[in-house]
Amino acid sequence: MDYTEAKLKAEELRNQIKVNNEAYYVFDSPQITDFEYDELFRELKKIEEEYPDLITKDSPTQKVGDNISKEFKEIRHNYRLYSLDNSNNYDDLKKWYERVKKEYINEPELELVTELKIDGLSCALSYENGILSLGATRGNGIIGENITENIKEIKSIPQKLSKPINIEVRGEVYMPVSSFERLNEENIENGIKEFANPRNAAAGSLRQLDAKITGRRDLHFFAYTAILTGENSLFKTHEQALKLLGELGFEVNPNYKLVKGINDVIKLCGYWENERFNLNYATDGMVIKINDISKQNELGFTSRAPKWATAFKFPPEEVWTKLNNIELSVGKTGAVTPIAELEPVQLAGSTVKRASLHNFDEIQRLQINIGNRVLIKKAAEIIPKVIRKQENEDFGVYKTPDKCPDCHTPLVKPEGEVALYCPNSLKCPSQIKGRIEYWASKEAMDIDGIGSSIVEKLYEKGLINDFADLYKLSIDDFMTIDLIKEKSADNLYNAVQNSKKPSMTKFLTALSIKLIGKETADLIANEFPSLNDIKNAKIEDLVKIDGIGEKAAKSIVDFFADENNKTILNKLEEYGVTPQGSAFEKISNIFEGKTFVITGTLSQPRNIFEEKIKKLGGKTSSSVSKKTSYVLAGENPGSKFDKASSLGVIILNERDFNLLSEGKNVNE
Ligand code: NAD
Repeated sequence: MDYTEAKLKAEELRNQIKVNNEAYYVFDSPQITDFEYDELFRELKKIEEEYPDLITKDSPTQKVGDNISKEFKEIRHNYRLYSLDNSNNYDDLKKWYERVKKEYINEPELELVTELKIDGLSCALSYENGILSLGATRGNGIIGENITENIKEIKSIPQKLSKPINIEVRGEVYMPVSSFERLNEENIENGIKEFANPRNAAAGSLRQLDAKITGRRDLHFFAYTAILTGENSLFKTHEQALKLLGELGFEVNPNYKLVKGINDVIKLCGYWENERFNLNYATDGMVIKINDISKQNELGFTSRAPKWATAFKFPPEEVWTKLNNIELSVGKTGAVTPIAELEPVQLAGSTVKRASLHNFDEIQRLQINIGNRVLIKKAAEIIPKVIRKQENEDFGVYKTPDKCPDCHTPLVKPEGEVALYCPNSLKCPSQIKGRIEYWASKEAMDIDGIGSSIVEKLYEKGLINDFADLYKLSIDDFMTIDLIKEKSADNLYNAVQNSKKPSMTKFLTALSIKLIGKETADLIANEFPSLNDIKNAKIEDLVKIDGIGEKAAKSIVDFFADENNKTILNKLEEYGVTPQGSAFEKISNIFEGKTFVITGTLSQPRNIFEEKIKKLGGKTSSSVSKKTSYVLAGENPGSKFDKASSLGVIILNERDFNLLSEGKNVNE
């Protein structure tokens, strides 16, 4: 690019950034993704590096944030607030470290603190004699908005510290992902515009003229910087500062780590790139800071960011792509689910071709059709979801089908449900094949080698019509499938025959009973000793089991009363498929009446702990609620840990758990 081209391009980029800054910082309503914004920013920085005399004083690369809203009183910060330089690749991260290390050439590897980069709104809080006196947004770093009254509404921000000191505390106000989703659901119901992401929801909720509205929103605060005003230093390192913030009464994100040199930083960035999806708050990267405060002071700042810290940005969680088609999938229970087929696109480190659309109400809500450009997002789910369509594009709305895409039976919508169902469960090929596939799957009977393509071929040849038929197949039957030779046929035959003695939990799960997954199957298996007891159970017997509601109980009773299911169960019995009673023999009642939830990485696989809990009379559940007795937390626990803390549920580490299981007091 020559000078004239660079000049024009730089101007164009500055304008684009300016427009998007206003939408983001002032109106909390971004029009492009953060990734797209960062790309514009990097392009401008590159041009300015190549042609330094193109740098203007008001270039976004030279300053923090942008204009502030006129609706709040302005305050001048006592200490300037900065942004952070960032990179999105490990080479740039290494270059940052090399630049800093050059200043300390004779020293060993430098101590660094890595923290999660919380995607919220940065705030500065001033305390005089330990009493909160001022809360402000960052604004342009020099002037911010006075939001003291709103800050006082956030419960995790102490109004009085445990020590009567003068201090300025900085941190991030954020909204948990679950609360953001709830708020958006409410907004949809009330016809109010949704927030684009948890960051904008936090910013929009905090910057309310009526502080009572802020109080009604679920906002939290993670503190990450302390500036002592007056005191002699109570800390010499950033790590000590974080500890002090905790002692003063602030919430400090527990996932920070002290490391030496850049290699461990890179490992942690890689780890959190995936693990972040298990947190109940949004993070857009990692922040890496020099631990030694005297070195921080020596290194200082540029006009926009500290030289002693940098951010590593995770690959984008959201990206725009084209909706090429809507595929209709009929599941094993007959539910018809729309799936978005997308123009393949890179998202959070993998190529995405499909995204979930959940149901047809969702399509109506999104007002989308084939041809639209859509924003997709990777969240905790493995399959990404469609968030919204590009504004100003009108392709109409995809028409909700009225017939099963496979067997053409008119679809039904049971009362109180959002899903549409094909009622032809006995003859609809998709449902029949779906149930057989599920029977053989890892989650159910775990029959090695029997996957969708083998099921499809066996079904097409008329060799199987339900999962019981698998057990009557001979080696020769398997050999009728193209490319299956004697050895493979032998293996498939043996895998099927060896699955005849499943645990009761696996057997019940594999039956594809509506609303009965592995966890519920486990509850039933633990309560009823034999299949006959389950077949004869009444709704009132089943609802007595903690964790089984009226709907699930009815579904079980209906399943075993159905004539077709009776025939399949008889066939299974005839072929010698017999469940082996309750999976867990109780050895004591120490955990009687106690429900455990497990999170994080423990010293052994989770199922070992689950088994132990059940053998000692306890129960396990996958979600934390007020009814949870204990959360067993290993290393790097997920959002369940946060939920347990907020509900006051007792959190045990492995040592405490072992003591408790031996009937000892956890404080011993
Ligand atoms: P930034 O968000 O990239 O990084 C600096 C900020 O990180 C700090 O001000 C602080 O608030 C925050 N932070 C979170 N956790 C932290 C921790 N543990 N320690 C220290 N700081 C922590 O920079 P920025 O100047 O706030 O905003 C620029 C970014 O905002 C862009 O990179 C882009 O992602 C986004 N943005 C997007 C748009 C858009 O239109 N989509 C527009 C403007 C800005």
